[in-house]
Amino acid sequence: MTISVAQSVINYILSTSFLVKGTTIIYDFIGGEPLLKINLISEIMDYAVNEMKKSNLGLKFKIRITTNGILYNNSKVQSFIQKYHDHLIISISIDGTKKKNDLNRVFKNGKGSYDSIISNVYLWHSQFPFIGTRMTISHDDIPFVYESVKHLISLGIKKIDVNPVLENVWQEGDEVIYEEQLMNIADYIIDNDLYFDKELDLTCFDEYIGKPLGKKDMINPCGSMFLSVDSLGRFYTCMRFAKYSLRSKKPRIIGDIHNGIDKNKLRPLYALDLQSLYTSECFFCEVATGCKWCPAENYDSSSTGTIYERSVATCNMHKARVRAKNYYWNKIYQKNKWIE
Ligand code: SF4
Repeated sequence: MTISVAQSVINYILSTSFLVKGTTIIYDFIGGEPLLKINLISEIMDYAVNEMKKSNLGLKFKIRITTNGILYNNSKVQSFIQKYHDHLIISISIDGTKKKNDLNRVFKNGKGSYDSIISNVYLWHSQFPFIGTRMTISHDDIPFVYESVKHLISLGIKKIDVNPVLENVWQEGDEVIYEEQLMNIADYIIDNDLYFDKELDLTCFDEYIGKPLGKKDMINPCGSMFLSVDSLGRFYTCMRFAKYSLRSKKPRIIGDIHNGIDKNKLRPLYALDLQSLYTSECFFCEVATGCKWCPAENYDSSSTGTIYERSVATCNMHKARVRAKNYYWNKIYQKNKWIE
């Protein structure tokens, strides 16, 4: 992206009627690897801050960056962090142990990235102790989930989102290994009394998951109504609708910096709720809450190019997570009864 495209985006945002006094704008820089372009990000944010001030709307802002961590200790990155620390939500993607991390996070020459990022993970954690990490898992790395969560906890990371990919990569039996891995984590947390630590937040054991749908669960749970912009200034509701994120479908562009948003193109997303999307199996599923889906993945995997065909690729993985979550809470209950 050139600075002039970025400036046009900011000018567009500040000219829209979405903004009211005191709105918080979140500037989310998504790569590839965003820190490769720290000079550009810095220039964009300096421009944005200046223009926000001029708008006299009392706008607030956050800057969100997810990085692979390789360049985190670079002096330019560190100067940017110092300048914008209080506005930053920055997260390093580390998948767990060296073995698990290096299965997917590799340099061009095939070498894993773990050894290059681990000191930066300590630095990041000292600067942003309350920000967590998302551990993405796919078929090959399920057997390493338990060791990896343990490892992240040992690094001091307290908020860990274990996240099976939504794409259809799963094979029969994966859910059995996944459940065992999560139950091992549950044993580890409970046997070591770590669940008393209020800051420890493992989303896999979230109490909310695994219940029948209620009224409040009917809305589209995905935040896929961002204004997302590609390097040429084309607009999407989420970068997963851009060409480079899709496997087989055409990009869903909703406008650009020259013409603004075509509101007609937003209609399908406005109307997307669980009643219009779910099959009766999902709608009446007894463990439906927390079962993730994504409009763009629906679109990409659909037979007809609609966002209304729910992908159920992670169905068995979700059910395994629910069983492990029930095991976790039952075990805590039993243990505390013994204490009494
Ligand atoms: S995908 Fe499976 S677990 Fe999820 S709501 Fe549908 S039936 Fe339930």
